[in-house]
Amino acid sequence: MIRPVITLDIDWAPDVAIDFAADLLATAGAKATWFVTHASPAVDRLRQRPDLFELGIHPNFLPRSSHGTTPEEVLDYCMKLVPDAVSMRTHSLVQSTPLLATVLARTPVRCDATMLLSHAKRTEPFEYQWGGTTMLRVPYHWEDDIEMIRDVPKFSLDDAIAGEGLRVFDFHPIHVFLNSADMKPYEGLKSAVKPLNEATLEAMQPFVYNGAGSRTVFEALAKYAGAHGGGERIGDIYNAWKAGR
Ligand SMILES: [Zn+2]
Repeated sequence: MIRPVITLDIDWAPDVAIDFAADLLATAGAKATWFVTHASPAVDRLRQRPDLFELGIHPNFLPRSSHGTTPEEVLDYCMKLVPDAVSMRTHSLVQSTPLLATVLARTPVRCDATMLLSHAKRTEPFEYQWGGTTMLRVPYHWEDDIEMIRDVPKFSLDDAIAGEGLRVFDFHPIHVFLNSADMKPYEGLKSAVKPLNEATLEAMQPFVYNGAGSRTVFEALAKYAGAHGGGERIGDIYNAWKAGR
């Protein structure tokens, strides 16, 4: 049985892109986990749908991060954005054992979705035990912008969902909006519309790609999840694991 899980890395997307992806999900009745990078009215609107949406954190540990200069600063910043977060995925998938130790010591986050097992046909959550504390790690197998740089990108749900059990997907609201199949629409938008985080629907519309892209997979997956009880969120997987311990 396939169990669809939709996640999104917000990655400082403009509000119109966040609203657009949220509306597609809500219309389909699909649940999702949103990994938050910043405060905005669109993020606040996501909070109004706890029946569908879970918010986690998306800490940026890279140099020159707007979240802070040390792992502690970055985590404190992100936990202020989502004080009740139990899940995370790090920006650019930055990870290390010291970093996970800091997360466990400093935050209530106990579920991590940073491990990309690209196109693995089967993935399972596993326990990461560290000094008496356990983190549940939920790998994912498909990401829209990683698909773009594969040798032969395939933006179809059949290809993306192939496998069994948990099928955890990662999308970016900007790529869902632009229906990106490569980075060209995004690069075009970035050079034409500044600042990007204040972009309007009208300004972004000309850059939307007409072929099969990120939105193609996202829409089809949202419909699939909607037809299968809404799908699961990272927090649902974590809660089921916790209840079974
Ligand atoms: Zn990111």
